[in-house]
Amino acid sequence: MNKPHDARQDARRLDLLRLADDAAALDGHWPLTDLPRLTSDAAPAGDGQVHWRVEGERRAVAGAAADPMLQLQARAAVRLTCQRCLQPVDEALVVARSFRFVADEAEAERLDEDVDDEDVLALPPRGRLDLLPLVEDELILAVPLVPRHETCPEPLPLPEDTLEAPAEEHPFAALAALKQPKP
Ligand SMILES: [Zn+2]
Repeated sequence: MNKPHDARQDARRLDLLRLADDAAALDGHWPLTDLPRLTSDAAPAGDGQVHWRVEGERRAVAGAAADPMLQLQARAAVRLTCQRCLQPVDEALVVARSFRFVADEAEAERLDEDVDDEDVLALPPRGRLDLLPLVEDELILAVPLVPRHETCPEPLPLPEDTLEAPAEEHPFAALAALKQPKP
């Protein structure tokens, strides 16, 4: 969908109501070092940035007001430790999430239980949202619990009991040596 791009907006105090009323989009990127809760456990990888995009809209649900909605997409890469070979592994974090903003916390809690595919949040004061902690929360949730290479770069050390005994000398090797012409 081609949404109007609202370049006037500041993502650190996003005007949710305006973004929703205009059905506008906004995108940008931040260095991952600005997300210390994420990078304390997961070092920045790739280009070291989180690339994000938000789209606003108002969507009515049956029997409820047309609440402001925010679609968030974000991607970043972090360096974790492979749980199979214990070497570093770069994992792509991909976020695609919908948020519905309602009048207050009580309504958010009530509605959040009913809705599976979106998060319901209370509208922040004056409808101004700091997007950065929201993006950081979602990236943290996207970190794999068991990071692993698809194919580990090093051969895995074999458990000791499967190690083969050194190959025995071939029985004819000594004979062959005897047959070598003497220099
Ligand atoms: Zn590995």
